[in-house]
Order: sequence, then structure tokens, then C-alpha cells
Amino acid sequence: MKKKQFKAESKRLLDLMINSIYTNQEIFMRELVSNASDAIDKLYYLSLTDHKVKVKKKDFQIKIDVDKENRMISITDNGIGMDKDELEKNLGTIAESGSLLFKAAQDEKKKMDVIGQFGVGFYSAFMVAKNIKVISRKFDQEQAYIWESDGVDGFSIDEYNYDNYGTKVILTLKEDSEENSYSDFLDSYKISEIVKKYSNYITYPIVMDMEKSVLKEGSKDEYETKIEEETLNSMIPIWKKNKKDVKEEEYNRFYTDTYYDYENPARIITSNVEGKCSYRSLLFIPSHAPYDLYTKEYKKGLALYSNGVLIMDKCEDLLPDYFGFVKGLVDSEDISLNISREILQQDYQVKLIAKSIETKIKKELESMLKDDRKSYENFFKNFGMQLKFGIYNDYGMHKDVLKDLIMFYSSKDKKLTTLKEYVSRMKKDQEKIFYACGETIDKIDLLPQVEGVKDKGYEVLYLTEYVDEFTLQMLMEYEDKKFVNICSENIDLDSEEEKKALEQANENSKDMFEAMLTTLDSEVKEIRYTNKLKNHPVCLTSKGNVSVEMEKVINSMPTDEKIKAETILEINENHPIVKKLEKLYKQDKTQLEKYTKVLYAQARLIEGLPIENPTEITNLICDIMS
Ligand code: ADP
Repeated sequence: MKKKQFKAESKRLLDLMINSIYTNQEIFMRELVSNASDAIDKLYYLSLTDHKVKVKKKDFQIKIDVDKENRMISITDNGIGMDKDELEKNLGTIAESGSLLFKAAQDEKKKMDVIGQFGVGFYSAFMVAKNIKVISRKFDQEQAYIWESDGVDGFSIDEYNYDNYGTKVILTLKEDSEENSYSDFLDSYKISEIVKKYSNYITYPIVMDMEKSVLKEGSKDEYETKIEEETLNSMIPIWKKNKKDVKEEEYNRFYTDTYYDYENPARIITSNVEGKCSYRSLLFIPSHAPYDLYTKEYKKGLALYSNGVLIMDKCEDLLPDYFGFVKGLVDSEDISLNISREILQQDYQVKLIAKSIETKIKKELESMLKDDRKSYENFFKNFGMQLKFGIYNDYGMHKDVLKDLIMFYSSKDKKLTTLKEYVSRMKKDQEKIFYACGETIDKIDLLPQVEGVKDKGYEVLYLTEYVDEFTLQMLMEYEDKKFVNICSENIDLDSEEEKKALEQANENSKDMFEAMLTTLDSEVKEIRYTNKLKNHPVCLTSKGNVSVEMEKVINSMPTDEKIKAETILEINENHPIVKKLEKLYKQDKTQLEKYTKVLYAQARLIEGLPIENPTEITNLICDIMS
């Protein structure tokens, strides 16, 4: 048959694999064995759901053969197999994980690191093989086919005589070079070591003929070499073992190999629940966020097994969105094998398990927060955004689950703090939780309003992410303490006397403010004195529900709907500028207009808002200066 070309992306990935100097080349074995296991899973599943399919579980196996002389390794499975179309489609096009790898590998420097982190699949065999043949016969079909490729040149598919159903992958290894000794992979002991390392928990036997030294029959000291078939893997899935019998190292390896992470997980959560719905689960909280976590490509979910049989790779319904970063699996005898994706969503058992898993994850995070602050803060830096979205989404339905897990920077020590900690430190007379928003901690720290509130001895939460304020608005209060943006008008820290004095001062300058307001031409709703400020002359506060920060967030979104926060220009009553303003009001109205415009521009700048006409303002400043 005529040679076919690989799809463009596959070609480039192949190139990457063929020329790879990746030191962990042995992972090709992991990939081929796990493909074989997946194929058997599919057939086993079929046999359980379709009575016409007659296969026995005990007959399933993955066989590895090594042919030193011809430099060949083969991996044979009696799984579902592939027909001609499937061979072409599956082995001619790069799979999803492959395209992810490919994207990450665009960066030359990262190229070598990423290979091990992804499910690079079938193509990884080209790291060690110069030629690959795949012989396959689909379970319910007569005709077998052989797929063959020498690499980037393309592949061919032809009819082939093969008595068994399933797939045989035959690799012919590359010649040894100075950097690489591919011949190492022709050593049965090396192969058995690799299989034990990466594929120990595969649930079907992985067998290989091994040379063994045994006593000669009838002899006491004479040995002979015999070939015996040996099963290389333990076959008991790691989640079916008791926690005390599994070393942390083993869990870590299972995690890094299954989820292609280069770092061990931050937390491992095992559970064995008996009750209305019994299940075992093995969950992991990663140490860092995958690079695609906040993209559409990221799919949350846990693998779902029914008594050891894989039903689904990623069952979304087992994890709420806000815990979508959790990896792992659930195995339950109470879930029907026949369950379809549609039924699953409404399945009562699945709902019970999901609820119980949510509680387990929450408990684990709480204990991490309590016992291992450093890890929790690291966790929160990676995944905190998801928790905050979790509070905000679904009309705040889940806020009670999450409110004690979120953290914000605090003006005290500029460290992360929980709401509970903040409340426990509140001053006796403090009734509200204060916060301020801005791009960075440092910028917020410099806000004039923050200075004033801090000076009075109050702690302020610094909100730097754009979801932060929406999150707090959704929470509304924590332990009956309302959240207040100190850059909004309704913050009330003064004594009755101070308030009265301020009211009087405002009353006295009413006409002047009226005049200034006309100058600003409804840009602000009001102008008034404040004693919020310590050293700064002015600040802009918002009135009503939309804060200045929210205005920025919403207006930066790609929609036509723009909003505007209603603002108040507040002037520091104790600042020397006030005297000047009063003088100008009496003597020079034109000059007062200029001062007003400049002061307003200053207030906007400090809030991080743009100035509509910068030229006018700079000219005004020069004018005043000269
Ligand atoms: P992935 O396993 O990530 O999907 P691979 O490149 O390893 O990507 O394999 C591509 C596809 O080829 C698999 O999804 C599967 O459908 C098919 N395949 C690979 N190996 C086998 C096999 N031994 N038996 C049956 N199908 C296989």
C-alpha cells in the first residue's frame, strides 16, 4: 500500500521524539503498556455489558518479548484491537495529550523537560525505535492489518495474517550511539525493572520470559539456565491496598506517572468508605497548578472504577468546579457498569460519593491550613483563585463551604490571612472588616485612604485579584461583620464630636464645593471634606454598589456595556491646600477652576484611573507653577 503522511502536528511531534535526547527514554515502555492495558479495559468492559462477548478475565495479559539478535522488543495484548480506519486515525494523528505536549514544547528550552510530563503516548516509542510495526485485529473482525513506519516519512497499512485478536507493537531499536545505548533495552532485567517501576499497578498480568538459574534435576550443586514466564507487576491496584501497607514513595510515583507531574503531590487523601454508598478513593492535591488550569483545555474530573473496572477516565460530576484541581480516582462496587454519561449525572450514588469527596477535600485543606501553614499558603497561591470563584459563582451557593479556606493579604505584616484570623484580631469597637483594592500590595499600601485607616490602628485586607471584591460582595459578611471598601463613602471611624465638626466644616464650605462641582461638570457626584486622610490632600471614594475597582474590571472586559462608579471627591480638611481654595473662592474663580481640575486629576491618578485630557492637566499644572 502507498505510504501515507502523518498529520502536520504529528510530524513535528515525531521529529521531537526521534531527535530527543531526553534522558528518561524508558517511559516509552510505560506508554505502550498503558495503551495495551486500556485496550484490554475496553474489551473487558464490553464483555461485562454485552453477553454476546465471551472472554474471560483470567485470559487477559500483556506479553513482552525481547529479541536481542534482531534488536526487537514487542508488546502484545489481547485487548479490543484496531481496524484499518482506527489504525490510520489513532496512529496517524496525534492524540490530545500529544498536542498539549506539542504546545508546551514550542519553547526550545523547555522541550526536554516536558516530554516526561505528558502522556506522550505511542509516539514516544520513536525515541528508541527506528522502525515500528503495529499488527492489530479488532475483536469482532476477521481481517488483521499491519501498520508500519520508519518515522517522519509516513506510514503504510496493509492486510496481514494474524490469528489472535488484539494488538502487537514491534519496535526495532536504533543503533547505539555515543550518547545513547539503546541496547540496554534489550536486557530482560532492565525491561522488568522498568515495568515494575512504571506499571506495577496495571491490573492485568504483564508477562515476560526470563532466564533463570535453577538446580539441575537430581543435582545438588549444578545449575542450568531455564526460561520461565514471569509476571512482572503486582496487579493489585494501589487504591485497593491499605494505606499502612503503601509507602508514601509509592503513592508519589503513582501520582507522578499517572498525572505526568514532575513534582510530588502536596497532599495524598485516601479513603475507604462503607455505608449507603461504599467506595474507595485516592485523591491528590498537586503542589503546583498545571499550566493549563485556567484555560478551556483543562478538564476536571476523577477516574471512575466499578470494582476495579475503569468506567470513565474523567468523571466531572465527582468534583465541584472549585476543587477541580484535585486529581485522583474513585472505585465503587455500587456504581453500575452499564452507566452512561447521561445517567451518571443524575445518579444518586454518584451524587452521594461526590458530596462525601467534597467533605474529604475540605477537611484535608483545613488540616493543612492548621498544621502546615507554609504548604497551605503555597497551595493557595496556586489554587486560591478557584476557591474565590467558587464563592462567587452559582449565586454564592457554596460560600459556606469555602469561606474559611480563602485568604487575603493584610496590612498587618503584609502576609496572607484568613477571615477568621482577621476577625480574631479586630479592635473592640470595630464593627466592620475593612478592605482596599489595587493592582499590587505596594500600590494599595500607598493609597491615601489606607494610610488614614491604618493610622487609626485598624487592619486592612489588600485585594489584588480582580475576583476578590466580587467574592467579598457575595459573602457580604463574615461572623456578622460586614465588609467595607475603605475607598467607598460609608466608612465610619470617627467619634461623635469629630463627626459633628466635620459636618459643620462641610456646611460652611457648601457654596465653594457647589462652585467646584460645576467645574467638574458631573464627573463626580459630590465634593466634601473628609478626615479619612492623613497627609494626602485628596482622594476619590465611591458611592453606591459599584466601586472604582469594579469599574476597572468590568470595563476591561470585552463587552459593550461600560459602567461608571459614582464618585465623591474628598478633600483633607487639615491640608494646607484648603486655605488656598478658600482664598481663591473669594478672590479668583478662574484660578479655583484650575485648582479643582488638577486636584480631581490627582485623585484619579492615585486610584489608578485614566485622565481624560492629560494635555489640559499638564498645561494647568505649569500654569499654576509659573
Ligand atoms: P493516548 O493513549 O494518549 O490516547 P496514544 O498515541 O498512545 O495516545 O494512542 C493513540 C490511540 O491509539 C489510543 O487512544 C488508542 O485508541 C489507540 N491505541 C494505541 N495502542 C493501542 C493498543 N495496544 N490497542 C488498541 N488501541 C490502541
